[in-house]
Amino acid sequence: MGKAAGFLEFERKSSRRRPVAERIRDFEEFNIPLGTDERKEQAGRCMNCGVPFCQSAMELKRKVVGCPLHNLIPEWNDQIWLSHDRHGYDRLIKTSNFPEFTGRVCPALCEKACICGQYDDPVSIHDNELYLIEKAFKEGYIQPQIPEIRSGKRVAVIGSGPAGLAAADELNHRGHSVEVFEREDRIGGLLMYGIPNMKLDKSIVERRQKLMEKEGVIFHVNTEIKTKKTAEKLRQDFDAVILCCGSGSEREFKAADISRIKGVVYAMDFLKSTQKAVLRHGSLNAEDIAGDPEVISARGKDVVIMGSGDTANDCVATVMRHGCASVFTMARKKCPPSERTDANPWPEYPEILEEGYGYEEAAVVFGEDPRHFETTIRELIADEEGRLCRVITVNVIREDGRYVPVEGSEKEIKCQLLILANGFGGCERKVPEIFGASVNEKGQVSTRDGSYMTDAAGVFSAGDMHRGQSLVVWAIAEGRKCAKEVDEYLMGYTV
Ligand SMILES: Cc1cc2nc3c(=O)[nH]c(=O)nc-3n(C[C@H](O)[C@H](O)[C@H](O)COP(=O)(O)OP(=O)(O)OC[C@H]3O[C@@H](n4cnc5c(N)ncnc54)[C@H](O)[C@@H]3O)c2cc1C
Ligand code: SF4
Repeated sequence: MGKAAGFLEFERKSSRRRPVAERIRDFEEFNIPLGTDERKEQAGRCMNCGVPFCQSAMELKRKVVGCPLHNLIPEWNDQIWLSHDRHGYDRLIKTSNFPEFTGRVCPALCEKACICGQYDDPVSIHDNELYLIEKAFKEGYIQPQIPEIRSGKRVAVIGSGPAGLAAADELNHRGHSVEVFEREDRIGGLLMYGIPNMKLDKSIVERRQKLMEKEGVIFHVNTEIKTKKTAEKLRQDFDAVILCCGSGSEREFKAADISRIKGVVYAMDFLKSTQKAVLRHGSLNAEDIAGDPEVISARGKDVVIMGSGDTANDCVATVMRHGCASVFTMARKKCPPSERTDANPWPEYPEILEEGYGYEEAAVVFGEDPRHFETTIRELIADEEGRLCRVITVNVIREDGRYVPVEGSEKEIKCQLLILANGFGGCERKVPEIFGASVNEKGQVSTRDGSYMTDAAGVFSAGDMHRGQSLVVWAIAEGRKCAKEVDEYLMGYTV
C-alpha cells in the first residue's frame, strides 16, 4: 500500500515546469520530470484506500471525477514505491492503451477524486503514470505484441485520434485485421494537430504509430472518406466500420461577417499551421517557426482570443512563442474562485480557476493574467483594406439563462489577430450522412444508451464524434468500449 502513512511524511511534488523566459523561446515540452527517488516517495503517498475514489469515474453534479479508464491506480502506485516498475507497467496497461498521452495531457480526473485530496494535496497520479510508461519504453519492456491467430474479420476505422487508435489497438490485439483511414498527412487527430508540441511532443505519437504498425495495424493517411460510394465500398469490404472523426465543426461567430475581415482565424487553423511548421522545420526554435511564411503568425501583433478554456490556453502559449505584442482572452462566464467554496466540496469536480501554462506565461511576460471574464465581442473594426485593427468588447451578465450586454461597458482594444477558441459545434455532418448514421441536435452521432452502434448496422462511432468535445482519456475509454462491442458483433462473444 505504498508507504504506511507516507502521505504524512512526504509532501506532494509534481513535475517542475521549465522557467517561462526559457520555455517561450521554443516548442519543447515544458515539464521536467522528477528523479526516480522523488517519484518513489510520491507513489509512497498513496494510501491504497479501501474504496479508491481515484479509479471510480463517478458523476457528481453532472461532472465526472475519478479515472474514466478505471486505471488500477493504487496497485501501480504500490509497485513504484516497491521499485517493481515492470510489474507496475503490466498493471497500468491492463486498462490503458496509451499512458504516454494521458500521462502528458490528461487534466487528471483521478487526482480530483483522490482521497488524500480531502484534507491535503492529492497523490501525483498523473506524473506517476508517465514515469511508468516512459520507463517501460526506455527499458524495452514494450515489445510488439503480434496476435498469433487472425480471426479473418476486417475492421475499418475512420479517424486516427485517440478514440480511433484505442479501438484499432484493442481490435488488432483480438486478432481482427484493422485498417485506419485518416484525412491528414499524419495520424493522431488532435494529439498531432491540436495539442501543441510543448504539451505533447509529436515523436511520442509517432513512436506509438510505429509500434501499432509492427503489431499489424495498417494506416492510410491523406485519405478522406467523403463520398457515399466510398462509404458503401468500405461497408462491403469490411465486416465493421467505426467512425471516430472527432467534433471539429466550428461554432458560428455572430458579431461580424468574418469572411470579409483579414486577421480572424479559428483556433484549430491557427494551432495546426504552427504544428505543421514545427514538423516541417524539424526545429523547435520559436523564432524559426514564427518567421515561416506559411504560418499564421502572431509575431509583433496584438492578439485577442475568444475563449478562456484549454484551447484558448494553448493558443496563448503559442502566440507567446511567436513573440506577440500583447494578448487578451475573454469568456462570457463568471471568473471561477481560486479555491473551493463550501458549495463545491471535495470530491466534486473543483470549480476553480485553473492556472494554465499559457496564461502563466502571459502573466509573467506582460505582468497580468490575460483572462477577462463576463466579457464578449461587440464589434470588429477593420481598416480600408479589410484588415482587422480593433475589437470592441462589452461586459455581459447572466439573466434568465441568457448573457445580456451591459450597455456603456464597451472598450476598444488594439487587435491585428483575433483567434476564435470558443468551442465547437459538434461533428462534421458529412461522414455520418454518407454512412446513414443519424446525428442528434448537439452534433453527436446517435446510438442507443450504452451502445456504440449507429442506426446503420455494422457501423459504430466513438470518441468526440459520439460523446461531444471532451478529453483524450474519454476518447480512449470510448474507443475501448466500442471495440468490445464490435468484437462481440463480429464473433458473437467477447472477453
Ligand atoms: C486545442 C485543443 C487542445 C486540447 N487539449 C487537451 C488536453 O490537453 N488534454 C485532453 O485530455 N484533451 C484535450 N483536448 C481534447 C482532446 O484532444 C479530444 O477530446 C480528443 O482528441 C478526441 O479524440 P477523437 O479520437 O474522438 O477525435 P480527434 O482527436 O479529433 O480525431 C479525429 C480524427 O478524424 C479525422 N477525420 C475527420 N473526418 C475524417 C474523414 N472524413 N476521413 C478521414 N479522417 C477524418 C481527423 O482528421 C482527426 O485526425 C484538446 C482539444 C483541443 C481542440
Ligand atoms: S484515492 Fe488517492 S490515496 Fe486512495 S488509492 Fe487512490 S491514489 Fe491512492
